[in-house]
Formats: sequence, C-alpha cells, structure tokens
Amino acid sequence: MRFSQRVFCGRLTANDVGQKVLLAGWVDAFRDHGGLLFVHLRDRSGIVQIVFSPEVASADVCQRAASLRSEYCIAVGGAVRARLPGTENPHIETSGIEVFVTELTVLAESDALPFAVSSKGMVAGAVSSGADNVAEELRLQYRYLDIRRPSMRDNLVARHRIFQCVREFLDSRGFVEVETPVLTASTPEGARDYLVPSRVHPKSFYALPQSPQLFKQLLMVGGMERYFQLARCFRDEDLRPNRQPEFTQLDIEASFIDEEFLYELLEELTVKMFAIGNIAVPRPFPRMTYAEAMDTTGSDRPDLRFGLRFVDVTDVFARTNYAIFRQILQRGGCIKGINVKGQSDKLSKNVLQNEYAKEIVPSFGAKGMTWMRAEGGKLESNIVQFFGPEELALLRRRFDVADGDVLLMIADPSYAVVTSALGQLRLHLANRLGLIPADSFRPVWITEFPLFEATEEGGVTSSHHPFTAPDRTDFDPKNVEELLKLRSRAYDLVMNGEELGGGSIRINKRDLQRKIFTALGLTEEDIKARFGFFLRAFDFGAPPHGGLALGMDRTVSMILQTPSIREVIAFPKNRSAACPLTGAPSTVKREQLAELGLLDLGGSVVLPGTAEKQDRVDRLSWLSRIGVAAEERALVEAVLDESGQLARLAGERAGQEQPVYSVAPVANRTRPGTEAKRSPLAASGQLLKSAPALKGSYYKVVSILD
Ligand code: ASP
Repeated sequence: MRFSQRVFCGRLTANDVGQKVLLAGWVDAFRDHGGLLFVHLRDRSGIVQIVFSPEVASADVCQRAASLRSEYCIAVGGAVRARLPGTENPHIETSGIEVFVTELTVLAESDALPFAVSSKGMVAGAVSSGADNVAEELRLQYRYLDIRRPSMRDNLVARHRIFQCVREFLDSRGFVEVETPVLTASTPEGARDYLVPSRVHPKSFYALPQSPQLFKQLLMVGGMERYFQLARCFRDEDLRPNRQPEFTQLDIEASFIDEEFLYELLEELTVKMFAIGNIAVPRPFPRMTYAEAMDTTGSDRPDLRFGLRFVDVTDVFARTNYAIFRQILQRGGCIKGINVKGQSDKLSKNVLQNEYAKEIVPSFGAKGMTWMRAEGGKLESNIVQFFGPEELALLRRRFDVADGDVLLMIADPSYAVVTSALGQLRLHLANRLGLIPADSFRPVWITEFPLFEATEEGGVTSSHHPFTAPDRTDFDPKNVEELLKLRSRAYDLVMNGEELGGGSIRINKRDLQRKIFTALGLTEEDIKARFGFFLRAFDFGAPPHGGLALGMDRTVSMILQTPSIREVIAFPKNRSAACPLTGAPSTVKREQLAELGLLDLGGSVVLPGTAEKQDRVDRLSWLSRIGVAAEERALVEAVLDESGQLARLAGERAGQEQPVYSVAPVANRTRPGTEAKRSPLAASGQLLKSAPALKGSYYKVVSILD
C-alpha cells in the first residue's frame, strides 16, 4: 500500500461511488453481522463505514478483519459504494456511502482502552456516550487517546484556526512576530517566578517569563514599531480554577500610538476571532471607568449580560431614624442596593431573610442585608416600620419601584465591603433567577484604573506592572496618599464578566520610570540590580509606546464555549498544577542537584524537593515544602521528639481513656515569636472576592490531597 495515494475518510462523498480508495486510520467501532463485518474507520477528517464481506474480500482478509478491535491502527483498500436505502447513518459525515474492503493492513494493535474513544453510534439513532463522563484525571493521563475523540480534536483545530486568524490579521496591520527568550531574568507581573538553575553558572538561576513585557518594550526601543507574539508565559501562583502555571498570551506592543489605536485594533481582532465560533460580538465596545464599574457592579470585570446595576441610596437615609443605617452613616459608610425587577414570586420573605440575609450575604463578607418587597403599592419587609414615609417614597423613586420588585440593600462603614458583597450578590441572583441570556457576548473596556494599590506595610504596589504610564507625572513618589489617587493609562478588555486581557500606554521617560520605582519602595541598588539594563535602554531615545496581552487559552475557551480552559489545551496541567501524563513535577536525583550546585546553597538550608527523604527533618521539610535553616534543625528535632512521645502516649492510652483532642494551646512551635498576621483585606471582604465558593468566611478549595 502506498500512503501517497491515501484519501481522508471524512471527505468521501457520493461522487466517489465506484472509486477504488486507500484509507488509513483507527477502528472507531465494529459490528459483526455473522460473516459480514462493519467497521467505523476514523481519521482526523471524520468517519466512514468500511465493510468486510466474503463476497468481495478474500478469506484471508476476512479472517484477519475478525480480530480487529477498537483503536487498532489500520490501512484498507476498497471500493466506494452507495449505502442501501434505509441504512444511511446521519451521525457521521459520510452517511450515504461505505467502502467494501479488499485489502487490509494492521499497522498497530491497541490494548484494551481505559475509556471509550468512540462517540458515534454505528446504528442510525443509537448514540454512544463517549468519554463525556470519564474522570478528567484519567483523560489527562491518557491525553493522546482523549485527543483522538472528535470533540478534543475539533477544539485543537479551532484553536489553530483562531491563532491563524490572529497571525494573518496582525500581519496585515504591519505587526511582526518576534520570539523573546524563555530563559531570562525575572519580569514582574505580580506572581512568583519559576526558576531554572544554571549548570554553567552554579547557584545562579534563570526565571521563566511571567510575560515578555520587558523584551517587547526593548523591541520598541529597538525600532520594531509593531510587535506581536503568541507567547508562552509562566506564573507560579496559588491554585485557582481555570488557571494554568503556563499559558499562552497574545502579546502586542506598538510605538507612536495611543489608546484609541489599540481599542480599534483589538475590537476588530476580537470580532474576527469570535466569528470563528459563529459568535457576532457587537461593536463598538462600550467603555467604563474602573470607578464606574466598581460603583455599579462591584467588580472591575463587570458582567454586562444582565442589569441588576447598583443604585446608591446613601443620601436617601442621611437623616434616618433606623439605628443600624444611622450608625453606619455616622462612621462614613455607604448604602447601595439592587432592584430585582418583577421577581418577588421567586424571592419569598423566607428566602430573603433566612437564606440571603442570614447565610449568603454574610458569606460574601457583609454583616447583613436589608430587603423590601413591593406589593399592593407598598414596600413591605421585617423592618419597614423603622422608615418614615418620605424615605420610603424617595426609595421607590430612586429604585423606580413597581409591584413585584424586590429591593436588596447592603450598608457598611466600608465602601469595599458594600461593593464586594453586593457584586457577589448580583452574580448569585443572576444565576439563581436565570437572568443571564445564553449566547450573549458583551464586551467592555475598563479604563482609568488606580495606578497603585496599598500594601499591608503602608506602602504601594503597582495595580498592573511598574511600566504603566500614570495619568499625571507631577506627583511626589514618597506621598502614599497622593500615590493612591493616581490613575493609570491602563485598560482591560472584559467579556461576560471575564478579563480577556489588558495592557497600558507605557512610560518612555527614564526619570518617570525611576520615580515609579522609587514610589514602589525600590532602593537605588534594587533598581540597578533588577532593572538597570532596562532603564539604560531608556537613555537612547525610547519612543512613546503601548500594548496589551490577551489570554488566549481563556479567549479560545470562551469562543468554543468549553467548560474549562483545559479543554482547549493539548496537554494541560490538572487542578493541582501537576501533569498526570508525564508525572511532572517530580523529584530529582541528588547528583543532578550536585551538578547544579544546589546541594550546598550557603550550606545552611535543607532543600525541599530533593529525592532524599531519609532524614526526618529533611523529610518534614520536603513534605511541607518549607526550607529548614541549619540553626533551626535542633528545634525541629526536639519538636519531632516531643510529638513522637505524645503519639506513643496517645497510643498507650487508646482504649483506656477518652481520646485527646487538643494537647496544647495553638502556637507556632518551630518559629517562636512569629505571630500570624491578619490581613486588613480579610475584614473588607476583598480577600475572598475571587473565591470560587465560600462557606461562612472560609474559602472553599478543590480537594487536592489524597
Ligand atoms: N505584560 C502584561 C501582562 O502580561 C500585559 C501588557 O501590559 O501588555 O499582563
């Protein structure tokens, strides 16, 4: 058989009837009809039915065909025939034809499968469940089989189409794709770096790029003017759903441009990319300042597919007699609410009071929630008697109330608590009441972000990254209050409540860049050591420039409407940032560490992550991923001895006495004097803002330990 003559299974049509063809692929499914064997042969293009009939094929071919099993890789030669009327299978591309085989080569056999690859029933009307219910861990372990499934194949092909569209479009606009290094120095984007030890320079490390930020700016200094890259980026962040330790960004930078240039470029590109998924995204994309987004939705990535915008009613209650509101307003607080229009039949008093006010809203970080239902021209609730008629009339007008509406209000001394809790409530209600229309895509640009955020230590940190241009340059880098008022020339592209990407106009003046570093608390030495090479480039006529990056895994996943980004990545890590296929990350041999000069880093630290785990302190260090310094070893040994004794004691006493629940007041035994700090963000509710699920004031996480 000559592969050069091979044709694709899924491309055969009624026009090929009578032709002799050569096909190659995998046995998707088979059915034995007493001497007549039907096989679904699948290749990347689709499925065709092939028939082994003793009337056409030799006895030898028929005999070998009888031993075919699922996922055997085979090549066949045969003639295309029209199927008999009534035997067509509309589930496959080649519904009206089949191939009568005369030649068969088994190219490779297959073991029994860990899960079904086939998803097409062989008999018209029969539907195979395929691998839809298979545990994801197993799918990832046998990803190569998973990729044989048409849904995964289609996702990867569509991803390729979207990437092609990006390349063609940007090329047509004069952008040049340039690769930047993967082994590099740290690029700050707010996450931890993945480090790669250098053998040639013992005890020195490369960092994998969190983004190509510094290099793309250097390309602008280098006069490339318009750059893009489908770049792999690496961020060592805590586990979060729909995040991957390595991900693909469409990274863009251009010189002599302003925000409008990038908005136009990205809108055009977004519309083109989404069209590949048959999604029409409306243009122009609306814009919203960060302040407006927080004020009206409590989020800097607002979901605009539904209403439920916040209404501020702080002034309505300025002179209220209702003690709770009065006290909150006296403490400089605010009151905001949502009108859930016409939903009072779905939000009973019981649901509002016992579910929302007592359970759900406190889990969002607010102390409570006030509710009112509009019935018979009146507002009713458990506290309506505390409000005067004027207040109620004003409230009705402010919320534009009609019968059947439900008002939900949150009051708190902290603006952040009100907006964060009401924002989560907004999403909760939209989901519960089915207010989010299917197949609706609502983009929005978020602009005018704060340049800095406050740190716990009383300083500031960049909201995006330190290369973002501020809205004005005449600030005092030591005046934290002033710094926190600065806005940035940054913008995020948000779609349906998800941030697809973001960027900014950059600083191109060396003095301003230095001033920002100073504001961030970097010393002259820090600046020189970390960014000296970068600042030096700005001594040589850096052009004004700006850009942005789009998260491509997330974008493709949204276009293809997959339940997770892992469905659009060929070989993703699982939810615990591990690869079930290759077993990465894994421990390494002591010799490898020695070769890299990592066994005696300063001589004082037991390195977590080595394969050597005999010593119990090393083992503890390895298990906990916490380095133990040489001077801490004796203390850790003593604590281990003590806990060993306690364990023995507990063992001896078992069966005689009540079990011991707690043996000592809780304290950090190995690091005496280290107090646990409580973040002020916890009190404001910000800390739990992006929690996927909450229970009380706890963050629920996926189970990652066996
Ligand atoms: N480097 C930024 C990021 O990765 C994007 C940009 O500012 O262009 O988020």
